[in-house]
Amino acid sequence: MPEGDSLHRAARALQVLVGQNVEVETPHPRAATKRIAERLDGLRLDAVEARGKNLLLRFEGGLVLRSHLRMSGRWRVEPRGAVRRGLPWLVLRGGEHEAVLWNGPVLELRAPQRLGPDILAEPPDFASMLERLRAVLPTREVGDALLDQQLVAGIGNVWKAESLWEARVSPWRPLVEVADEELLAVLATAHRLMAASVDGARRLRHVYRRAGRPCRRCGGTIRSYPQGESARTAYWCPGCQRGGREPKS
Ligand SMILES: [Zn+2]
Repeated sequence: MPEGDSLHRAARALQVLVGQNVEVETPHPRAATKRIAERLDGLRLDAVEARGKNLLLRFEGGLVLRSHLRMSGRWRVEPRGAVRRGLPWLVLRGGEHEAVLWNGPVLELRAPQRLGPDILAEPPDFASMLERLRAVLPTREVGDALLDQQLVAGIGNVWKAESLWEARVSPWRPLVEVADEELLAVLATAHRLMAASVDGARRLRHVYRRAGRPCRRCGGTIRSYPQGESARTAYWCPGCQRGGREPKS
């Protein structure tokens, strides 16, 4: 049975991923139902600590993933891309390493305090999201605001980029220059894309990680640039997502 010291060892081993934006997968079908990958994929891992019999993984925006190993759970840290047999519960992949959770019977995502309405709720509370987006500084860029978990909970960097592209809204437009209908269209698109992803649909990505390649809608060249305080990379098409103070290339 994993005791306190093996938890502390796991917490120490996982430090190699702290500070990185991690790719998150939940290969085990029982883990996949928890919608953890959709919520955490691409977020920065801020801290890992052993607390009692739990391992707490803190992500940017205040999300905390709690892993209790019970009798059978094991964390392993391996080089990125290591060959595996079987379906782990969770994989957190950084630039050079990946942390893998096997047989993790307790895996739970906790929301930070003052979290905004959940984009994956059925149905989502779009009116309340809009209200929160209208309550912040109107000069704030829409792409930055969408990642603020206190305004809308659950939109990560991938879905921010893809839903803005679908709704033809530039991430660089200040909120004051984005109409309510446009904001609602972006939020509804984020919900639709993310809900489809939860159901296992594999969708073509239009802008995310496609910088330098042609837009599938207008043929313009996709750009990328860090945005906001945490400098998360924004992806957009300058051809069909116009407006705002676009960074110089
Ligand atoms: Zn375009």
